[in-house]
Amino acid sequence: MKIAIIGGGAAGIFSAIQAGYQNPNAQIFVLEKSPKILSKVKISGGGRCNVTHTPLKITDFAKNYPRGEKFLKKILYEFNAQDTINWFEDKGVALKTEDDGRIFPVSDDSQTIIDTLLAEIHKLKIDIFTSTNVENLEITEEGFLLKILKQKDIFAHKVIIANGGNPKLESFKWLADLGHTIIPPVPSLFTFNIPQHILGELQGLSVSNTKVWLEGTKYEQKGALLITHWGMSAPAILKLSAYSARYLAEINYNTNVHINWLASYTEQKLRDFLEDLKKEHPHKKNKQNPFVEFPKRLWEYFIWKCDIDEEKTYSQLTKANINRLIEFLTNDTHTIKGKTTFKEEFVTAGGVELSEVNHLTMESKIIKNLFFAGEVLDIDGITGGFNFQSAWTTGYIAGKNVGK
Ligand SMILES: Cc1cc2nc3c(=O)[nH]c(=O)nc-3n(C[C@H](O)[C@H](O)[C@H](O)COP(=O)(O)OP(=O)(O)OC[C@H]3O[C@@H](n4cnc5c(N)ncnc54)[C@H](O)[C@@H]3O)c2cc1C
Repeated sequence: MKIAIIGGGAAGIFSAIQAGYQNPNAQIFVLEKSPKILSKVKISGGGRCNVTHTPLKITDFAKNYPRGEKFLKKILYEFNAQDTINWFEDKGVALKTEDDGRIFPVSDDSQTIIDTLLAEIHKLKIDIFTSTNVENLEITEEGFLLKILKQKDIFAHKVIIANGGNPKLESFKWLADLGHTIIPPVPSLFTFNIPQHILGELQGLSVSNTKVWLEGTKYEQKGALLITHWGMSAPAILKLSAYSARYLAEINYNTNVHINWLASYTEQKLRDFLEDLKKEHPHKKNKQNPFVEFPKRLWEYFIWKCDIDEEKTYSQLTKANINRLIEFLTNDTHTIKGKTTFKEEFVTAGGVELSEVNHLTMESKIIKNLFFAGEVLDIDGITGGFNFQSAWTTGYIAGKNVGK
């Protein structure tokens, strides 16, 4: 039996390995359009590869997928984060969990993950054809004829499509031509551009516990926020971008973002804190940062923004000063104009409609012997290793079943 896998990314390579385990006699080959396989794994997690996320209850784990949550709830039972850990550790990869739940190889080098996957590929004698761009699939009586750009057609009895995400709808046209519904793709996991923003001078500062939300919507997230020279980044912003990916695309990434810089305080707690300051440290100058939650330079920015004289003392803070401070600390507003995916773990929201894929096998419900794995599906997670986990899970199921 000939099994073709289109795409040599995490999902394609992992599914090829699973197909090899399942059916050692099959002739399995991976067709990759670029000159290299696993190139995203290489650059992932800043070159360290955040391979998965710490195992959670399946329903909780699945909540980290703005698209595909229900589908993942059904398939994570087959192969979940613990299985990923076991699989890599079984192959000799030492893994470590960071405080935020992200899991990396102890080597802090994505090449460790690549080498492990490639060792299995070689052991199983799976062929890899790079610079092989599959343009289309023709269904024949026996299987599929893969149309390759500027090369001869290739025949396969069964095919796994694992060609990843792409924010351009045209790139899914050949899958739509096969009869599959494509949920229009839009980018997810991006940072916000805030042109000429006042905070730009504070680039590099981060605050660990903020709440951010988009004006006039229910989209809100909590977490760390990083001020960059072009705008804002870090988990709070990336998560917000993921959950609001489609909405932000519709409004062309043009809206206001609100920030509560002290998400752990209620308004009353903040008011009490500031009133206490006046009493407990009456002689301290306003420019002295009273909050451990954020850096001094950010406090100076608030003082400046609220027109508070930095040389005066806490005891001289007026009621109006305190009200203004509370307003800015809990509801600072900035205008977003555009997004940036540069260097971030960007993914595609949208792709092959999940109701057309059998979750037990990852086989198309429309075309027999055609399977899907990875980001080509309408599944995407937030940052933290969830996107690779989805690639491993769908790749595992597709590979196991294609090999049967
Ligand atoms: C910079 C960056 C860092 C990231 N870091 C992390 C991280 O640390 N943790 C995490 O969980 N996720 C991370 N992600 C997301 C993660 O990399 C992807 O979700 C994951 O790689 C998807 O795997 P995939 O195999 O489905 O797709 P891909 O990795 O995109 O692989 C698809 C492959 O198919 C090939 N291909 C496409 N079309 C064709 C065709 N017509 N013919 C043949 N081949 C084709 C492509 O060239 C590509 O090699 C990161 C993403 C980026 C961009």
